[in-house]
Amino acid sequence: MLPSARQKPVFRFAPSPNGFLHLGHALSALINQAMASDYGGRLLLRIEDIDASRCRPEFEEAIYRDLSWLSISWQEPVRRQSAHLEEYQAALDRLRGMGLVYPAFLTRGEVKAMVSAAEARGVPWPRDPDGAPLYPPDDRKRSADEQRQLLASGIRHAWRLDMEKALATLSEPLTWQEDGDGETGRLVADPAQWGDVVLSRSDAPSSYHLSVVIDDAVQEVTHVVRGLDLFHATSVHRLLQQLLGLPVPLYHHHRLVLGPDGRKLSKSDGSTGLSVLREQGLSAADIRRRLGF
Ligand code: GLU
Repeated sequence: MLPSARQKPVFRFAPSPNGFLHLGHALSALINQAMASDYGGRLLLRIEDIDASRCRPEFEEAIYRDLSWLSISWQEPVRRQSAHLEEYQAALDRLRGMGLVYPAFLTRGEVKAMVSAAEARGVPWPRDPDGAPLYPPDDRKRSADEQRQLLASGIRHAWRLDMEKALATLSEPLTWQEDGDGETGRLVADPAQWGDVVLSRSDAPSSYHLSVVIDDAVQEVTHVVRGLDLFHATSVHRLLQQLLGLPVPLYHHHRLVLGPDGRKLSKSDGSTGLSVLREQGLSAADIRRRLGF
């Protein structure tokens, strides 16, 4: 289902308050603003704060301050993911009801040890587009009885999508319409490359993938405009949209701002932080110019 031609375009900027915004965020927000204006649409702001261990109120306040400084305005209300956990839970319950998720008990350390042991034997371990090892099949293969026992024992666990089962529900390949700075056109999604993605963890009640597709649907987003670093994640988003019967926005993955080392900017590297640049005396106009606006 594509956004209907009569629907007024809706864009969103969706930062996570787990650090200060940098030039890369400014570029994303400015492109969203420019496209919303060109298309006669609205711009929404979403605070992606499901990971309570990393998100902090001062980072959220800085987001509002930095965006206002750049003269970026958004339509209220701001959607904060932490206020909608039951919606993500309901989606997870639906997938569980469809038999497409399973409880995953291996810790990060255990997975790491399994991967290292395999690689030491010269057996290459498959990795996702971000370079992380795919989750081993051990938990997926457990019987229902075994799963029940482990869950009843109170052991910490996550919920993962059974990728193979999920793909088996599809009657045709998934696609999306892309008009960003990378590959464009009608693109075929390849969610299998991500393996059994995590949908909720004991310390974060929903994953990025699950909450982003729910939010884009609830907020009636028609145009997802974000960095090329999230290009491959779109494959997982298309799969979840299909499984949950959600509408499919159009996608535009834009170029990234790279640091002097040729890598994408990180929130932990303060030198390109918007508040730092502001304190150094740069104006919002300087930032816009530097980003090519
Ligand atoms: N919260 C994500 C980030 O800060 C962006 C999510 C998205 O645009 O889909 O990188």
